[in-house]
Formats: sequence, structure tokens, C-alpha cells
Amino acid sequence: MTALNVAVIGAGPAGIYASDILSKSGLDVNIDLFERLPAPYGLVRYGVAPDHPRIKQIIVALYKILQRGDIRLIGNVEVGRDVSVAELHEHYDAIIFSTGADTDAPLNIPGADAPECYGGADFVSWYDGHPDHPRTWPLEAKEVAVLGVGNVGLDISRVLAKHAEDLMVTEIPENVAEILKTNPCTDVHVFGRRGPAQVKFTPLELRELGKQRDVDVLVDEADFEYDAGSEAALKSSNQQRQVVKALEGYAMQEPEDLTASHRIHIHLFQSPAEVLTDDAGHVVGLRTERTRLTGDGTVEGTGVFTDWPVQAVYRAIGYASSPIEGMPFDSKRHVIPNEGGRVLGEDGKPLTGMYATGWIRRGPIGLIGSTKSDAQETITNLVADANAGLLHATTDAVGHDAMIALLSSRDIPFTTWEGWELLDAYERQLGEDFGELPNGKTRERVKVVNRHAMADISRGKQAPQDLIGQPDTDRVPERVAHRLPAQD
Ligand SMILES: Cc1cc2nc3c(=O)[nH]c(=O)nc-3n(C[C@H](O)[C@H](O)[C@H](O)COP(=O)(O)OP(=O)(O)OC[C@H]3O[C@@H](n4cnc5c(N)ncnc54)[C@H](O)[C@@H]3O)c2cc1C
Repeated sequence: MTALNVAVIGAGPAGIYASDILSKSGLDVNIDLFERLPAPYGLVRYGVAPDHPRIKQIIVALYKILQRGDIRLIGNVEVGRDVSVAELHEHYDAIIFSTGADTDAPLNIPGADAPECYGGADFVSWYDGHPDHPRTWPLEAKEVAVLGVGNVGLDISRVLAKHAEDLMVTEIPENVAEILKTNPCTDVHVFGRRGPAQVKFTPLELRELGKQRDVDVLVDEADFEYDAGSEAALKSSNQQRQVVKALEGYAMQEPEDLTASHRIHIHLFQSPAEVLTDDAGHVVGLRTERTRLTGDGTVEGTGVFTDWPVQAVYRAIGYASSPIEGMPFDSKRHVIPNEGGRVLGEDGKPLTGMYATGWIRRGPIGLIGSTKSDAQETITNLVADANAGLLHATTDAVGHDAMIALLSSRDIPFTTWEGWELLDAYERQLGEDFGELPNGKTRERVKVVNRHAMADISRGKQAPQDLIGQPDTDRVPERVAHRLPAQD
């Protein structure tokens, strides 16, 4: 029997783990790993905060998988744009979608469309140097609201509250470093609808928040309320107990110890009700409604409202996936409908040879580690289908070489693993060239942001002068396009 040709779409952790597990499954397979960006690693590179170098080190494990050479990376190719799902069908026996999540869940309260009401995912994409996002960010607010009590909310709060020089040891791009230096923010107010037993922070990240230089974390003692649902949640989760302990630690600090010039205030039992704007439509505050527990860990409004003076609002209430042209999509759950990773068609039956894994399969919840177990289940089902004889080539022109010929015929500047190694080395050199920082450390890398520069360096061409550049206007998401510089 000839080898099975498999396309994996999206080189984030889910796609890389799925490729790795598949390559070791015992099936005779050729794996092509497509990625729309010229760089692999998905949200590990473009989501995980730059001041989390320990988490970014997961890249080392992902690197080792791809460096083996049996999984072929085809970067700078967007499925649904540069090549269609139908064309993939003609070239591969099975397709695994691992396209993750890239946008914000909507916030449906009055005033949420004000210009200073930002999507957390867009801010993260900016500070992590995503090539398809505008290069500037309006950091003008002294007081900021962050909606959402998960780790993304913590990341955003930390980056906003931290002194810029403490971010310089990280891999942030130059344009980001320059703008962060002008950040006037002194107070970040984080809001959660429910109580300490329901917040979604993880203990390590919450404790880390209090270790930032010249940043105090404040929690109100009045925000520690529990009902039967909360008690049960705490009893069953050691992690949640640790989170509560960390919150209590912040609440019990002595006032005389709170001397930092920057502050992060965590407010619980406050449900965002309205973004307040002035006559010109600019954000001047956030109105929240006090909530109370109802017994089972859920909350209801109390009718008591508070107005918080803030000049910008960031929502961190969840990521959402985007649909892919030619693929079924559940627009309520923002996932590709599937059962155990087998993609389901409109009739609810599995579509032969189509699979999903990672955040596009489950929704945007869970740490990087959980994408591995997720990939395991999807690949187990793929292997079972292959062994049952369900997967077979649809044309003679299957596989890698024909796909490369197709991309070349379209002049698509695709990149390869070897190309990524060139770009990776280039970014590390930029970090080294930056020289020693005042604290004696050096920057591990400085990211190249311009997609064309990334592709050129990967393709062995002379590196252009401008490594930041402007994004391609037709790739910038519509919701942030207004932040592109005006065209002459
Ligand atoms: C802000 C933020 C911070 C986080 N911090 C942590 C942390 O500290 N620790 C932790 O364990 N987890 C963290 N996570 C969670 C972690 O990032 C996810 O669990 C993980 O990245 C999900 O993996 P994925 O491969 O499903 O999706 P992604 O990482 O989103 O990867 C999907 C890939 O598919 C590509 N793609 C999308 N569409 C196409 C297309 N049409 N064609 C080709 N390619 C496409 C994308 O460019 C991307 O590279 C964080 C997440 C966010 C959002």
C-alpha cells in the first residue's frame, strides 16, 4: 500500500503535536504541515506574553519535533486563501485542522463599540508582533479597565502595568518597545463577574503578578464571599484553593506596604454593565453592577452600580476561532463541529478524511499541554479510519511535490523549515546586537514583524532594511483596520 498523504493545517502546538503523534503511529505517512505565517508555533509565539520566557521555552520541545525533518513545514500559506480546502482534498488522503483561535469573543454591553474599547486578542497580537496587525497601539489611558479574570486578563494587566524597562529583556519587537516606553498607565482595574472560587486564574500566574517591580496588586477584603457551590468548587480543586490563597494574600497586605507607583486592582462580584463615553464618544468610565452568589456558584445582579473612571477598556473574556472557507463551522461555539476530532458534516455524519484538533476543535480553553492529549484522541481516530480502509487518495497528483508545484505556479512565497531556521537565527542575532541591558542581561531575540521581511529572510534573500514595515492592508482584520496609518 502507498503511504498516506496527510495535510495538517496550522503549526501551533496542536498541529505540531498531532503531526508528531501521527508520525509515530505506525502508519506509513507523509505529513505536510501548513502554516499561514512565515513562523511556526501559533499562540506560543503570538499569544504567550513576552515576559513569560519559561512558557515560551515550550518552543524548544516543538522545535525538536520539527527539526527531525520527517514533518514538512509549508509556511506563509493560508488555507482558504492561497489554497482551497477542495484543492487540499485533491492532494491529501486526510486533512487535520488545527487552526486555533485568533480573535476576541464579543462584549455585548452599551458603549462597547467606543474607540478605546479594545479586544484583548488584538492587543496581544500587537505586543507579540503579529505580522497582520497595525504597528501602533494607542497607549494613552492613565486608568484602564480589563474585563475578565483568566490568564489572558492577567497578561494584559501585567503588560499594561509593568514599567517598560522591565519588558526590555524579553523578545518584544522594536516598535512595541518604543510605544510601551510612552505608556502613561498607572492603574489597571481587573473586573470579574463572580467570586474568588470562580476566577479562572492559575495560581502561578496570579502569584507572579505580585512580583513585578513597583507594581502593587490590590484586592478588597469585602470580595471574599462563598456559597455552597463555591465551597464545593474549592473542596474539589486544589488549584482553586491556591488561587483563593493568593488572592487573600493580596487582600491582607498592610496599607503601609503598598507604596508602588503602579497598581493592579482586582475587583470581584462586579459585572460590566456599560462603557461610559463623553459627548465625543470617547471612553471616560466603566459602569459595573455588584453581583451576589445564588447558592450554586452562579451570580445575580444586585441593582447596585458603580462608575469607575477609566479611559480605556480591554476585554479579555475569551478568544474565538475564525471560520475557514470551505469548512463547516459552529458559529455559536466557534469550533469546527466534530466528534472525537472527526469533522461532522451538516447531516451530523463524519466527513471522510477530515479531522480537527486543538482550540479549533474544543474551543479556546486549556493550556498548551492539553493540546497534546487532544491531538492524541484525534490521531487515534484517524489511525482507526486508515486501518479500516476509509482513507484513500482521490487523484494521481497526491502529496507534497504536486502541492509545491501548485504553490510555485501561483507565485506564493511559501517558506520551509530550513527557512524558519534562517529567520530564527536572524532574530537571535538581532537580540545579541541589541547589546547588554542596564541589568546586565541580553535579549534572547528581537522579532521581525514585517511579513515580507520574514519571508525574504526565510527564503535566503537579502534582509530588507525595514524589519517592521506595515502589514498588507488586505490581511489586517477589518476590526482593527482603522488603526492603519492613513493612505496618501
Ligand atoms: C494571550 C494568551 C496567552 C496564553 N498563555 C499561555 C501560557 O502562559 N501557558 C499555556 O500553557 N498556555 C497559554 N495559552 C494557551 C495556548 O496558547 C493554547 O493552549 C494553544 O496555543 C492552542 O494551540 P492550537 O495549536 O490549538 O492553536 P494556535 O496556537 O492558535 O495555533 C493555530 C495555528 O494555525 C494557524 N492558522 C490559522 N488559520 C490558518 C489557515 N487558514 N491556514 C494555515 N494556518 C492557519 C495560525 O497562524 C496558528 O499558527 C495562552 C493563550 C493566549 C491566547
